[in-house]
Amino acid sequence: MHTTTVRSEESLKTILKEIRTFVEKKLFPIEQEVLKMEWNKAKILLDGLRQDVKKMGFWCPQVPEAYGGLGLTNRQHGMVSEILGLSPLGHYVFNCQAPDAGNMEILIEFATDDQKQEYLYPLLEGSIRSCFSMTEPDNAGSNPLLMSTTAVRDGDEYVINGHKWFTSSADGASFAIVMAITDPTNPNLYKRTSQIIVPLTTKGIHIVRNIPVMGEAGAGYFSHAEIKYDQCRVPVTNLLGYEGAGFAIAQTRLGPGRIHHCMRWVGICERAFDMMCKYAVSRQMSPGKTLAEKQTIQNWIAECHAEISAARMLVLDAADKIDKYGQENARTEISVIKFYVANVLNNILDKAIQVHGALGITDDTLLSWWYRHERGARIYDGPDEVHKSRVAKEILKSYTNINERSH
Ligand SMILES: Cc1cc2nc3c(=O)[nH]c(=O)nc-3n(C[C@H](O)[C@H](O)[C@H](O)COP(=O)(O)OP(=O)(O)OC[C@H]3O[C@@H](n4cnc5c(N)ncnc54)[C@H](O)[C@@H]3O)c2cc1C
Repeated sequence: MHTTTVRSEESLKTILKEIRTFVEKKLFPIEQEVLKMEWNKAKILLDGLRQDVKKMGFWCPQVPEAYGGLGLTNRQHGMVSEILGLSPLGHYVFNCQAPDAGNMEILIEFATDDQKQEYLYPLLEGSIRSCFSMTEPDNAGSNPLLMSTTAVRDGDEYVINGHKWFTSSADGASFAIVMAITDPTNPNLYKRTSQIIVPLTTKGIHIVRNIPVMGEAGAGYFSHAEIKYDQCRVPVTNLLGYEGAGFAIAQTRLGPGRIHHCMRWVGICERAFDMMCKYAVSRQMSPGKTLAEKQTIQNWIAECHAEISAARMLVLDAADKIDKYGQENARTEISVIKFYVANVLNNILDKAIQVHGALGITDDTLLSWWYRHERGARIYDGPDEVHKSRVAKEILKSYTNINERSH
């Protein structure tokens, strides 16, 4: 584990203020235009902004200082993540976007020196992108033990065959971290799978398509690919950790990854809420009367405010627990925030759209973009139902013990 730098409240406040100013002044004015551009053009613009972030010293806020980042704790990075979430471009411009941030974390922890040279450092530098290829169309992603993709050892190489989808940001990425079965007969199902680095230039990789999501296939960073791996050969030195460590490695990225996502969602909620309030006070419903004067709208504003505040507190509390006691001891809190904040996000976006009337479903505001892109929040990183079931089982454990004692 790499140590983090605990910053004083004062220095954190300064960092947050400067990042907020950058997001509001540099990203808000261009975000709508960038999201409608071809990815290759957008990338050039975003690369320029990335250089500005480097100069400001805020590059890779989630990465340990030894690797060139700000070395923030999970709680501190959570607060940064909320501000970056105010714009759909925030995380990408600061190089702390999923799935690269999770892959950086894995590579820092498990890569060999050679793997770090080839994959981690260019990723930290921002000169390449990556993706994480685990989910398969033919198997329930909620139970990853059902995976079919195999990596069979042949001399000094693994031969990978499989069919994946929803590999986010594969379009234009340099490599994928692929989850594949390396030991199909191991009685411990959790030890059958490994993580292998696969350059996307490897022969036998077919990016079938960027999957249209709610009518938009996207491109480059903003896309999700269906991929076929057909007799792909990579050197055995591309294995991460040891054979059978796939799930153990995957676990390490879950806790911090969920804090990042949830605080990004809180940021989106804040922005949508701000848009909703501004619209409510400006939309004239009859002479001299605005939408803000309607009681239903007032109820929504009060309820949304309460939900966003509760979401923020829950996530920061979970982050604090991870920082102090490790993610193993914060599993319930992590599951709670995953389903709770994803639902708050979807509710706030829906209310903000409703307040905007027909304008809300046009692409003239950001709301429709988020509505399309963030519905998935209730599905990826474990659907709501999986997390709720986990939380309930954990709570019910103590009741089961009481019942056993009383009988
Ligand atoms: C926007 C987005 C980005 C993604 N990015 C990536 C990525 O980069 N890499 C990657 O590998 N994967 C990615 N995924 C895939 C994601 O991890 C899977 O979609 C997720 O694990 C669910 O698997 P599934 O879609 O196969 O749904 P299934 O497992 O088939 O489940 C279908 C539904 O069944 C219900 N359900 C499941 N389990 C239970 C249960 N125990 N109790 C009650 N109901 C249940 C839920 O409502 C669930 O939505 C992404 C998905 C989305 C939407």
